[in-house]
Amino acid sequence: MTRVFGALAFVALMVTPASAQRRFTEQQRCTPAQRDVGCLIVLGSGMPVPDPDRAGPAYAFVFRDQVLLFDAGAGVMRRAAAAGLPIDGFTSVFLTHLHSDHTLGLPDVLLTTWVMGRRRAMSVHGPVGTDRLTAGILSAWAEDIDVRTQGLERGQPGGQAAQVQIIPGHGGVVHDTLGVRVSAIPVPHGEWKAAFAFVIETPSRRVVLSGDAAPNETLVQAARGADVLVHETYPAVRLRPENRPGGDAWPAYMRSVHTSDQEVGALAAKAGVKQVVLSHIVRMGGTDAELRAGVRRGGFRGPLAIARDLDVY
Ligand SMILES: [Zn+2]
Ligand SMILES: [Zn+2]
Repeated sequence: MTRVFGALAFVALMVTPASAQRRFTEQQRCTPAQRDVGCLIVLGSGMPVPDPDRAGPAYAFVFRDQVLLFDAGAGVMRRAAAAGLPIDGFTSVFLTHLHSDHTLGLPDVLLTTWVMGRRRAMSVHGPVGTDRLTAGILSAWAEDIDVRTQGLERGQPGGQAAQVQIIPGHGGVVHDTLGVRVSAIPVPHGEWKAAFAFVIETPSRRVVLSGDAAPNETLVQAARGADVLVHETYPAVRLRPENRPGGDAWPAYMRSVHTSDQEVGALAAKAGVKQVVLSHIVRMGGTDAELRAGVRRGGFRGPLAIARDLDVY
């Protein structure tokens, strides 16, 4: 059975043009009309606590034939497959910052896309340190790469590579190709030297991903009039000192590193965004109702959603 399947897979690869990407087309999340204006798929709405229903933070933005990946949390390639995206590589990868929950899936992104047929380096945009991260991943998997390229698997040498482009601390346009432009916006996130939000623009849509960020005016300006703002958050009403070593500093930590639901509501109202999507939520027991009430208290009156994996916006 395995031999037959292997032979069929081999024939399929032989007749597939080198440029064609492998898709699970029957499971596409975005309609052709959505892809034509720009379609955001939540691949992972989770946070560091492993939750079987929520993969680690990752979002795909599909515009015509381009598939841009933002962050690479744990589970990213399973969710990409579930979303019907190409499993042999993304057009480009963008990292908001290098916290492990946002990058645990990067080995999966680099190695699985290669095993699934990627032939050339994939561009990875990220903050300072991204080059060290990708080099470290490829070095950690050196034995695997040797076996796959030198053995009968006939792995394409170099297909696992990343072409890293370090985003300067002041941000700026990091991708501007065939109608989709991505700009990195520096945001404050605790002690990180560089952390970014991303603004994604097509001729007809503007989508903003907050990344991990404390409240900041730069993001308000960048999000002005956006069609969709995806923002990280926590329920303000649940924030209190925790009964554990260091737990008394928890509220101060959260306030300096993340944005409460009420603060999301305030900044979305100020920026005049059309829709808010809460994702990457540190819940601390908070309910959807509490989060919604928090955003409303902040002053945002427009459409408000709480992201689930594979939701489309
Ligand atoms: Zn995070
Ligand atoms: Zn973070």
